[in-house]
Amino acid sequence: MPRPRFNRILLKLSGEVLMGPGQFGIDPDTVARVAQEIKDAKAGHELCLVVGGGNIFRGLAGAAKGFDRASADYMGMLATVMNALAMQNALEKIGVDTRVQSAIPMATVSEPYIRRRAVRHMEKGRVVIFAAGTGNPFFTTDTAAALRAAEMGCDALFKGTSVDGVYDADPKKVPDARRYESVGFNRVLADDLKVMDATAIALCRDNNIPIVVFNIREQGNLAQVLGGEGTATIVSN
Ligand code: UDP
Repeated sequence: MPRPRFNRILLKLSGEVLMGPGQFGIDPDTVARVAQEIKDAKAGHELCLVVGGGNIFRGLAGAAKGFDRASADYMGMLATVMNALAMQNALEKIGVDTRVQSAIPMATVSEPYIRRRAVRHMEKGRVVIFAAGTGNPFFTTDTAAALRAAEMGCDALFKGTSVDGVYDADPKKVPDARRYESVGFNRVLADDLKVMDATAIALCRDNNIPIVVFNIREQGNLAQVLGGEGTATIVSN
């Protein structure tokens, strides 16, 4: 059965996607490729992005090394701002209009997060890049993605990962793991399936926002999946 085609969507990119073949940081060629994918896929959609920061700094890892969790989380949020600026730069270079809105006000490099302004940007065809997560420690950018998707009235949240959907076991460890075409939010929570963290899943469930999990590393896949084709798993009520 073909997946529905969504109009206004939020794309969540984890920081790991932006580090490309490296083990850390931002790979400019990868950022340029992802930007091109977004440009190629964008026609006919209103699009916003939430970028992670795990390629630079994760609060939990920082806390494990002795930083206070809250301070480490703020550092993680600042990392997402770097990724947002990198994405913005790459998109603007190829002629895609963008705005970065940061949940932690940073007037020199971005707009502050203002919901109604963000909606207006999207209506005008601009790609809005949400930086600094929710602006609060003890959360993740997955939860920020669910929150912004709800606030923006998005029809779906697209989660770009390095696997082509949600499996009943880790496909890298279990060779005959089965990929779901579709799966319910409650099954994801009950079986602790690796989609997004539980807070993000619950927020999407309660606001009836489907999550489409797909492989963003495969060239051309974003356009296909946005068009309702290609390989992906849809998580919904
Ligand atoms: N973070 C936070 N609050 C938020 C979003 C992110 O404190 O609302 C911090 C948290 O420390 C997290 C880091 O920012 O580890 C980077 O975000 P995340 O780990 O979600 O990035 P991703 O895994 O998507 O690259």
